Amino acid sequence: MACSIPHPGAGSIRKRARTAPAFGKDKICAEIGKDPRAAPAGNGSNDRRLLLGMFNLPFIDSFLLRAFRYRTRGFLRMEEAPGTVPPAPREGQGYLYLHVPFCEVLCPFCSFHRVQHHHGQAQRYFRSLREEIRLYHRAGYRFSGAYFGGGTPTTEPGELVETIALVRELFGVREVSVETNPKDLRPEILVPLRAAGVTRLSVGVQSFDDQLLKEMDRFKKYGSSEEIQAHLRAAAGMFPTLNIDLIFNQPHQSLASLERDLDIIRSLGANQVSFYPLMTSPTVARRMAGAMGLPDPRRLREFFTTIGARLQPDFTPTSAWCFTRNGQGSDEYIADADYYVGAGSGAFSFIDGALYTTTFSLETYAQRIAQGLTGITTRHRLSSGDLMRYSLLMRMFGLRLDRAWVLRRHGPRFFRRLWGELRTMEWLGAARRDPGGWQLTERGRYWLMLMMSAFFESVNDYRDAMRAHIREEQGESDTLCVPASSPAGVSK
Ligand code: SF4
Repeated sequence: MACSIPHPGAGSIRKRARTAPAFGKDKICAEIGKDPRAAPAGNGSNDRRLLLGMFNLPFIDSFLLRAFRYRTRGFLRMEEAPGTVPPAPREGQGYLYLHVPFCEVLCPFCSFHRVQHHHGQAQRYFRSLREEIRLYHRAGYRFSGAYFGGGTPTTEPGELVETIALVRELFGVREVSVETNPKDLRPEILVPLRAAGVTRLSVGVQSFDDQLLKEMDRFKKYGSSEEIQAHLRAAAGMFPTLNIDLIFNQPHQSLASLERDLDIIRSLGANQVSFYPLMTSPTVARRMAGAMGLPDPRRLREFFTTIGARLQPDFTPTSAWCFTRNGQGSDEYIADADYYVGAGSGAFSFIDGALYTTTFSLETYAQRIAQGLTGITTRHRLSSGDLMRYSLLMRMFGLRLDRAWVLRRHGPRFFRRLWGELRTMEWLGAARRDPGGWQLTERGRYWLMLMMSAFFESVNDYRDAMRAHIREEQGESDTLCVPASSPAGVSK
C-alpha cells in the first residue's frame, strides 16, 4: 500500500516532476495557483509543491486507486486451509465478527456476500453460527467486542438476540455492534436488541435522496427519505451509538444531493456516520452499468472534501471515512483490534499474521460445522514486509500509528523496513510525526480513503471469484447459494 506512493529520495518521480511533460507542468502550476515560469527546476520546495500539485490532478486518483489495488491484492493470495481452529493468540486484543448473509432484497450495487433471505435456511444458519462460536470459545479465544454484519443480521431478530446472548455469556464482551436497515428500525426489533446489550446500531441508509434510492432499488423496500428519517429519529438515543452508513460517488449523485444528505445527518440524532465511496467488483460493475450507471473516480476528491467540511465541527473524523459526534472514539475493529475472527459464511479473519476466509457456500458451511470444524477454507500467511504494511494501512486508517504499539507488535525493525513509506507520508504532508507516533493529516485521510477502498475492492474481487466458483458448481445465476431443501446443493 504505502510503498506505492513515490519515494521522494528515489528520484524517478521527482525527475519527472521537473521535466514533467507527461503530467504537464503548466497544468500542475495552475492547480497550485502558481505561474509556471516562476517555478525554477531544481528548487527543493518548489519541486515539492509541484509534486503535491500533481497529486491534486483529477486523473491521479484513478491511477492511485489502480496502484493501491494492485498492491493490496497481494494480501489475498489465498490457498486451501484445513477447517480446524487456528491457535488462539496469546496476547493482544481480539474482536469477533459474525457474518449474517441474508437480505430481503439484493441491491444491484452491493458487492458483499449476501443471499436472498429464506426463513428456514436462516434459522439453520444461526444454529451453525452458534456452534462455531462455541468452538472458538473452547479453543481459548477471548474477545473484547462482537460485530454482527451482513447482509442484514436483523432479518431473523429472535435468532440474532439468542446469538448475542451466547456471545455475551461466553466472552463477556463490552461492545456489541449490529448492522440493520431502515425498515427494521421498529420497536419490536429494537427493544429486544437493546435489552440484549447492543451498544452500537449501524443503519445502512446509503442516501437520503429519493431518486438515488429508487436507482439503488431500495425505495420500495426500505422506504422514502422522509420515512427513513422518521425511523432514525425514533431510534436516536436508544443505543449508546447510532451509526448511519452512507455512500458517496454514486453514479447520478450530484454535489447538491450530497450536501442535502449532510444537512440531514446533522439534523438527526445519530452520533456517528460512516461515509464510504461506492466500491464495486467487476461483476457488480457489469450489473450496475445496466441498472444505474458507474461511479466516476474523478469526482471522489470533491465529494470527500465536501463531506469533511460540512460535517465538521459537529462531527470529528475517527477513521478515514467515519465521523463521530462529541469526540467519541473510533470503533473500527479492523483498525483497533490486534486480531479478529470472522465466523459464519463468507467472513474474513486476521489471526497471528495470517488472513483466513470461510466458505461462501451455506451448504458447505453447515456441513463443516456439523463435522466439528470452523467455516475456514482458505488462508494466506503474510510475509513479514506485507504484515508490517498491513499494520501500517489499518492503523493509519484509524488515523494514528502509535510508536509503542508498533514496538510491541513488530519491534524496531518496523521503522527500518518501512522508513521509506513513513518518510514519504511525512514529506507529502499525509502524516505528522510527534513523540508518540504518526498522526494522519486531512490530506492523508483522503489518500487512506483511496487505499482502503482499493483494499476493499481487492476483497470484492475475491468475493467475485468465490461467487463464480460456487455458481459454476450449482448453476446459479446471481445468489451464492440456495435453500438447503433445494436439490441443487453446493459442495464448496
Ligand atoms: S446493500 Fe445491504 S441490504 Fe442491500 S444487498 Fe447489500 S447487504 Fe443487503
